[in-house]
Amino acid sequence: RESAKKGLRIGMIAGDGIGRVVLPAAQRVLQNVPGIPTPTFVNLDAGFEHFQKTGVALPPATVQTLKNECTAAMFGAVSSPSHKVAGYSSPIVALRKEMDLYANVRPVKSVQGTEGRDVDMTIVRENTECLYIKQETIEDTPQGKVARATRQISERASTRIGRMSFEIALAAAEVKKQRGGNYGWQGPPTVTIVHKSNVLSITDGLFRESVRAVAGDYPGVVVEEQIVDSLVYRLFREPEKLSVLCCPNLYGDIVSDGGAALVGSLGLVPSVNVGDNFIMGEPVHGSAPDIADRVPSIANPIASIRSAALMLEFMGYVEPAAKIYDAVDDAIRKGFVTPDLGGKMSTDEVTEEILRNL
Ligand code: ATP
Ligand code: MG
Repeated sequence: RESAKKGLRIGMIAGDGIGRVVLPAAQRVLQNVPGIPTPTFVNLDAGFEHFQKTGVALPPATVQTLKNECTAAMFGAVSSPSHKVAGYSSPIVALRKEMDLYANVRPVKSVQGTEGRDVDMTIVRENTECLYIKQETIEDTPQGKVARATRQISERASTRIGRMSFEIALAAAEVKKQRGGNYGWQGPPTVTIVHKSNVLSITDGLFRESVRAVAGDYPGVVVEEQIVDSLVYRLFREPEKLSVLCCPNLYGDIVSDGGAALVGSLGLVPSVNVGDNFIMGEPVHGSAPDIADRVPSIANPIASIRSAALMLEFMGYVEPAAKIYDAVDDAIRKGFVTPDLGGKMSTDEVTEEILRNL
């Protein structure tokens, strides 16, 4: 980090919908967790509502402030209208690109002492290419319209997501050794490369080969691979046998929503966008327009709160992050949960219980 950036200054991009209630919940937790420098926060604009007001989805000032002033950031959610809106494109995709946040890391863990599957896996999703380069064309032909999308897989992007996956597998094994935890994955550090190179031999072939090419630098990690369709089958049949999944962008997107279903709710699953110079926490869920206007809010704040913890963990604050995870697990075990998990609590009631547990 550049030495000019002192302390812990966190850019807060709440965005749209429930982003505006779950991000303040994460902020309260960051303000109260022991063991980190006192954080300061700067609220930044982005999102669909901002676009409707100003014509700009991601203001340049937001990017500049992140780059010049912030040590890390938290992102809430932005609405992605299902119909195409002229001039609008997703600010989160742009932001990942601007800040070179090339990996999206999504731990999917069950809470011990609650019902449900015994899961402890991490999905590492490549964030910059694959079908998300959004090069689509459509043409009229005598047989009707034909649409095409270009999918880009590069050696550079695949290699660095591979390295990130191996590092995470080693770090996860270390944390498990220190903190215990006899659930989920119990084997040696393992990375599963997810691909479809039986069909897409050139693109997915390059992804697979690139990840394998750096595996030799991590002799402590076992490398497996799995075709994405059979991976999804395993995800539902035996998720306890999966550890770190290294995925191209699209497969990672799909597999992680499946992972969220395994542990009960999208409202539980955190992520962090990681680059070599910046970290941004972000819940996996979207803006949840169907519940966004409820008063009092019933949005589950846990995905955001865990994202804040994950952000700290990736900045090296492993113990403070662990305290947050434990406070969240306690709240869930005691039944302080929102309706998406079958509970009756509001966003604030869950947040306050987590703060008490801290
Ligand atoms: P977007 O376009 O912003 O992604 P979406 O319609 O896809 O919006 P999601 O936010 O992805 O909505 O949510 C999918 C479903 O999961 C919705 O029914 C939503 O209410 C629910 N959900 C998502 N996040 C939460 C949360 N934090 N708490 C409670 N329910 C949630
Ligand atoms: Mg969504």
